[in-house]
Amino acid sequence: MTHYIFITGGVVSSLGKGICGSSLAALLQARGLRVHMRKFDPYLNVDPGTMSPYQHGEVFVTHDGAETDLDLGHYERFTDQQSTRYDSVSSGQIYRSVIEAERRGDYLGATIQVIPHVTTMIKQAMMRDIDDGIDYCIIEIGGTVGDIESLPFLEAIRQLRADLGRERTLFAHVTLVPYIPAAGELKTKPSQHSVKELLGLGIQPDILVCRSSVEIPASAREKLALFCNIRPENVIAAHDVSTIYAVPQALHEEGFDRQVLQYFGYDPATNPANIEPWINFVSRIQAPNREVTLGIIGKYTGLVDVYKSICESLIHAGAQNNTKVHIRWVDSESLEPLDEAGIGHTLGGLDGILVPGGFGHRGVEGKVRAITYARIHAVPVLGICLGMQMMVVEAARNLLGLSDAGSSEFGETPHPVVGLMTEWIKDTETINRHTRGDLGGTMRLGAYPCILAPGTHAQKLYGCSAIVERHRHRYEVCATYVPDLAKKGFVFSGMSPEGDLPEIVEITSHPYFIGVQFHPEFCSRPTRPHPLFDGLVRAMGMGKNHS
Ligand code: GLN
Repeated sequence: MTHYIFITGGVVSSLGKGICGSSLAALLQARGLRVHMRKFDPYLNVDPGTMSPYQHGEVFVTHDGAETDLDLGHYERFTDQQSTRYDSVSSGQIYRSVIEAERRGDYLGATIQVIPHVTTMIKQAMMRDIDDGIDYCIIEIGGTVGDIESLPFLEAIRQLRADLGRERTLFAHVTLVPYIPAAGELKTKPSQHSVKELLGLGIQPDILVCRSSVEIPASAREKLALFCNIRPENVIAAHDVSTIYAVPQALHEEGFDRQVLQYFGYDPATNPANIEPWINFVSRIQAPNREVTLGIIGKYTGLVDVYKSICESLIHAGAQNNTKVHIRWVDSESLEPLDEAGIGHTLGGLDGILVPGGFGHRGVEGKVRAITYARIHAVPVLGICLGMQMMVVEAARNLLGLSDAGSSEFGETPHPVVGLMTEWIKDTETINRHTRGDLGGTMRLGAYPCILAPGTHAQKLYGCSAIVERHRHRYEVCATYVPDLAKKGFVFSGMSPEGDLPEIVEITSHPYFIGVQFHPEFCSRPTRPHPLFDGLVRAMGMGKNHS
């Protein structure tokens, strides 16, 4: 029988509800229990695919090709379980389903209202495809209690408590307990108000998770318990820790998972938690015996959330190699006006370079400059999606002498080495196979297979001959240029199973020059770093002198 744990947030946003929920999931898993995670976001966009990275951070992509909130990345990294398109739900999707149902006549002429029609649609989405074998389904409600937008979600979980009963539902509320230095005190009032707000909506939280920058003394806990009508042992302190991966251990020591089990009437001693892997992983992060610096040549360099999964993948690969990977953010546009010496000055001293994915023309020439530098100076470099496409553009220009080679994403070019698949594949069946018929046949989203060429760097790194990786792009490298580039030592080491779409490129004679059309960062896990990030970190600092 599945129990539902709802996680709401109060006082301010960015309290780390996602990390809190993911940590609880990891702790329950550490007790041998089966968990599932879901996120409900109050915005009206149908998905975050077209939202500005400035506002929304990274768009995470699931195996089945859904563009989702970045919290799903945390869910996957903490639980090592694949999410699906049903695990990221926005108000926009809910309202669209309700309106479509109304247009089809499903409501038989009834007046369509938020309660019950919208809330019923939300409840169905919350329980969709959750099989009985799942012990705990953890549902995070995006936004902050008090926002107008999240009201239908809160009403839906209030109803679910009535539908399923107290014995199958738990409300955990994450709040902030701020420390006021001038008074030397922790303040419980904002949490009290937030709980009051929830009470006004008919929801009494069962567990309070209190974020704070310092330890919460017993007196503050008792006060919170008393004023918020919560048992003192269910007030869980979550003070700041050095890495998000230390949160499971910290919450375990606070008794979060134990209290959850006790709330549902289970004896926590029956399923003791083995959190050893988390403790070991954190100690590897904290005790590196080597430091390297990686330059990320990006467009949104002020906003690390845009490259969230990449940063996490580097932590995983760093821990695996006892290496601290420092990141130097390099604005790709800033490289464009520089001469050779200027590029050398800006990128010199980097142990490695990563050229991430992106959309649009701005900054692409800077990416090309960084790739030339890495290729010539034997600096380890990983190109992801747009980064790989720019590797091919760079090679076409500088190895094949096609000086005006480019991508048709950025306008007319006599040598479109990167273009829309439809520019050279005319057969609709093939295009549909490559895109599952999405977006007029031009967007590849989600997992697709790739065959690795024997003896290549890529094949050795993966240690197998066929892989499956997640994609998110419209443009493709044109296979026509493969033979000419291969003659120059620029090898296509991964291709689609039919051999018509390039997936991985590399320079065999370079210490580490790899470009991938897919996004390896979505599949890196704490104790299972992605082979391409692992290889990059290993290669960094070991190459030639490139200063
Ligand atoms: N803009 C490129 C494309 O659509 C690359 C996308 C990406 O890097 N995710 O193909």
